Order: sequence, then structure tokens, then C-alpha cells
Amino acid sequence: MKKPARNTPAIAYTIVGKDLAAHLFEVTLTVAAPAAEGQVFVLPAWIPGSYMIREFARNIVSIRAESNGQPVALAKLDKHSWQAAPLKEAGALTLHYEVYAWDLSVRAAHLDQNHAFFNGTSVFLRVQGQEDVQHVVDMQRPADPAAATWRVATSLPELKAKRYGFGTYAAASYDALIDHPVEQGDFALATFKAHGVPHDIVISGRVPNLDLARLSADLKAICETQIAFFEPKTKKAPMDRYVFLTLAVGDGYGGLEHRASTALICARSDLPTKASVQSKDKSDGYIQFLGLCSHEYFHTWNVKRIKPAVFAPYDLQVENYSPLLWLFEGFTSYYDDLMLVRSGVISEAAYFKLLGKTIGSVLRGSGRTKQSVAESSFDAWTKYYRQDENAANSIISYYTKGSLIALAFDLTIRAKSAGKKSLDDVMQALWQRFGRDFYEGAARGRGVTPAEVEVLFDEIGGSRLKPFFEKHVRGTEELPLAKLLAPFGVTIKDDRKSGKPSFDANLGRDGNDCKLSVVHEGGAAHRSGLSAGDILVAVDGLRVSATNLESLLGRYAVGDTIEVHAFRRDELMTFKLKLQGERIPAVTLALDATRKKANGPLRPSAAR
Ligand SMILES: [Zn+2]
Repeated sequence: MKKPARNTPAIAYTIVGKDLAAHLFEVTLTVAAPAAEGQVFVLPAWIPGSYMIREFARNIVSIRAESNGQPVALAKLDKHSWQAAPLKEAGALTLHYEVYAWDLSVRAAHLDQNHAFFNGTSVFLRVQGQEDVQHVVDMQRPADPAAATWRVATSLPELKAKRYGFGTYAAASYDALIDHPVEQGDFALATFKAHGVPHDIVISGRVPNLDLARLSADLKAICETQIAFFEPKTKKAPMDRYVFLTLAVGDGYGGLEHRASTALICARSDLPTKASVQSKDKSDGYIQFLGLCSHEYFHTWNVKRIKPAVFAPYDLQVENYSPLLWLFEGFTSYYDDLMLVRSGVISEAAYFKLLGKTIGSVLRGSGRTKQSVAESSFDAWTKYYRQDENAANSIISYYTKGSLIALAFDLTIRAKSAGKKSLDDVMQALWQRFGRDFYEGAARGRGVTPAEVEVLFDEIGGSRLKPFFEKHVRGTEELPLAKLLAPFGVTIKDDRKSGKPSFDANLGRDGNDCKLSVVHEGGAAHRSGLSAGDILVAVDGLRVSATNLESLLGRYAVGDTIEVHAFRRDELMTFKLKLQGERIPAVTLALDATRKKANGPLRPSAAR
């Protein structure tokens, strides 16, 4: 291999929004010393944190290669990969390609006259064999006048660019390059420090009267609580800088974690406005948004640095199967809301309301009796991420059930140790042994195996947790939450409206018609023979519309049998349906009146 000239980066990309209206990025990639046998280029099939094969290379609409001003043949090897012909004379090899970017999510890339957003997994081809050298990116301002005032927000370190400016940025490796999403546009921006580390909150999309000061203050409290959680002595954050990249839209919700940033999408109505500053109470939407920020931020430790061994390193071309997402997503879901109450951002009552909702959602589907959270984790690629109308009857969420497993572990450890230990100690031990040096050590971090997780839980939690793993992690036995919460003065109630007549199906709409979206196993609709997708036409001869089923059923009692007409595709069918009581759990938690404050997981354990 010819040694590249000084100051010439081994791998250099340029990226520019070339045609905003056509949603096309133009990318060039120059490799100073391409492989002699013909350089191979590969685009990831999935993005870490979102466990589904997405085949991002399908959005590359054109690609060509050149060297010394001469075209070089490119052969396509498979759906993600190309190989350039060996070069006839020494020199750099340059690829020119265009990427279609019209996916309004945190997982891919999106470009129009309002903004540019991209993840490296969507736009940066990997230079096979040279993943561990420095990767330099020149971000160029689009020529379109719409972009004249755009700025750049990313946690990717600047090389020759001002903060928030176009110019060159650099990553130490390909793995680092694709872990810093980029937003370009006329965004709102606020900066705060959490235990000395600068944090940016970036909001793209139109949000009139946005209260950034309030958002910054709440996020600062959450971030400082989490930094102190993992490093109680030093309060040292694992990154030099952190960026919350947020896209506000009419309706949306999602987030994706990265090592020093997160990409978020939220409903504009979830963000605080200056008009509501007088009110101390936070709306459910704002609490949900803060919970999302808290969740993705917790991932900075739990999954970005403490990782399943199979993710270290990732194989981005195929599924990476792990039975541990209940720990990485479930425990993160447990601590996201807990950090809101521990940081004082929400009240204990608001926390119990969130917890009641989670318990109710786990109890809702019969899928919990068929799939364990270990299985749900392993099959995330084809089941959790590809849910169909039968999901409630066939799978369990490793997020919600995983968070209740965290609660059960936490309560168990606290009870056994008389309040001296808690799940916090387990998380800190995971951090110290597997996470803290992941990006810092001389050797690349190796992640944690399922067997190591169990050994560590036994050691820190005070042994004999194996039966718990058997029953609740690898098995589907119900969690004894009421029994575990009782010693902490917390009682659980289920106030479902069992006297209210119900189909036990989720209703959707199709124009002005009522369409069954989910039919719950064992429920009235299922027993009558109705199916998800059926369009209800009439109940006892009276027309069903998109909105009137509940009032029609109000004339009947639980146990009555009604005649239902429904279309399945274009065929009219008749069903005899025996109404049953409401089966949607309405779980509430209450603190024993004799106790002023819950001394359970709302607080760190007594030892600290
Ligand atoms: Zn997550």
C-alpha cells in the first residue's frame, strides 16, 4: 500500500444537500490508499439501537468511482456492497454517490427546504479494512438559498469548523463516525452545563413560544442526577459534550441513543411554552418528552458503553442476536421515569401514575404468557420491531416487562439487604466492570455476556437470584409486584370497569367506518369469530360508525348477546357476540397513608 501524503486524510467524505426538493444528498468519499485487490465499500443494513434490518443502501440512487481523473469500474457484490476494480496506477480512489433522504424518523436521513438530518449509517459507505483510521467529513452548506442561514448541530468533533458551523469534522474510526447524527437547519438552541459538561438542546421544526429556559433547567436536573448515579464520588460524565437533537412535528414520538448525543422526535404540543410558565404542573405530554430524554440519556451508560458482548463490535450487515435487551432497554425504561422523580422534575404521585400505566400495559396482552423477555430480546428483529395485528396475543415488550423486572429486582434486593443495597448497586457494578473503560481503554471494550450478568446480580444482590431469572427472565411467570411493593407501603389496585360491556378489541377507523385493529385472545370479539381487519357494519341492525360503538353498547349489559354485521374484505358476515366486562387494566398505586414518603426505589439505597 502506498503511504498517503502528509495531511491527506486516509478517508475523507464530503456531504452536501444537493437538491433539497428532490431530497438528495451528494456524497464523495476519497480513499488515499485503496486496497490493491480492489477496494470494497459497504453500507450498514441496520442502525445500532434500532434492531431491524433496514437495508439503507436501497436509498443510494447513483454511484460511480474514479481515480486520477479516470473512471474506475464498480461491481455490485450484494445489496449493501460494491467493489472497485484494482487501480492501474497508484493513487487515491474517489466515489461519488447520491442518497435519497426522505425518512422522517430518528433512524435514517431526511432532507428538504426546512432542514437536513442524517445518521452516518444512511450516508457514509464503510471502507472495508480501514475502519480503524481517522474519518474526516467536510459538511458543505447547500447552494439552495433556503439553506443560507442554516447551522450544524452534532456531537461529532470539529476539525476545521466553528461550533455549529459548516466545515470539516473528524471521527477516530468508522464506528465513531456513524454514532454522531447531524442536524442542519435554522434550529432553536440552548446550552447548559451538567456537572461541568456542556449540553446542547437543539429543537428543529416550528414551535411557537417555546420555553427553552424551562426545558434546559429540567434537563440539567435529570442529567446531573444520572451522572451522579453512575459516578457518585467523582460526578464525571463519560463524554466531553452532549447534544439532544430534537425534531418537533405535529404528531410523533421516538428516540435513538448515541455515545454523546441522541436524536429525538416529538409532538410539538409536548414541548413547554412560555405561556404556561406560571403553571408548576407539567402536562402528561411534557412529562413523556422528559421521560424520553431521560431514557436516551441513560443509554449513554447502559448500552452505549455497558453493552451485550455480541454488540462489541457490531456486525452491521446482519442481525446481532442478544437475549439481554430486557436489561439494556427494560432497565433503561425503569430508570428513565425514576430519574425524573429522583431529580425532582416530577412528584411521587406523578411517578406512581406512570408506573401504574406500565403495569397495566404489561397485563393487557396474553402475549406475556407465551414469550419471555429473554426470547423477546432475541427475536426483536422479527417480532418486536415487526409487530402485526396479533402482537398483543403473541409477544411481550422487553421495554415494559423489562422495566417491571427491574422494579422487582430492585425491591427484592432492597428487602433482602434491609435497605442497604439496591438495583443501583448492580448498575454501578456493571458500569465499573464493563462500561467505564469501553471507549477509554487500550483494548476495545468487550461487552457483557448473559452468564456474567447473572453472576454479577448474585454477587451484588446477595445471591439466590437464579430462581428469579428462571421464572421471570427466561420464563413467563407473573411478577409478584403487589407482594414485593407491600413492605414499602405501596399498594396496587386494578380499577378496570368490569361492569362496562365490551368487545375486547382495539378499534381503529377506516374513513367513517369502525375497523377492528386488534382482537384480544379469549375476548368477546375473538369468541364470536370476529377478526382484526373486520369493518363493523351494524349491532342488532343499527349502523356502527367510526365513533358510536361505545354508545350503542351502552344499551346492553355484560352477558347480553348481540348480533354483529361486519365486512371481511368485501364479504358481509354475521356474528353472535356475547358481551363481556371491560378487560383493560386500570392500575393505580397508592402509598400507605401512614407513611409520608415511599422509601423504596424512589430513593437511592441507604448505603450511600
Ligand atoms: Zn432505549
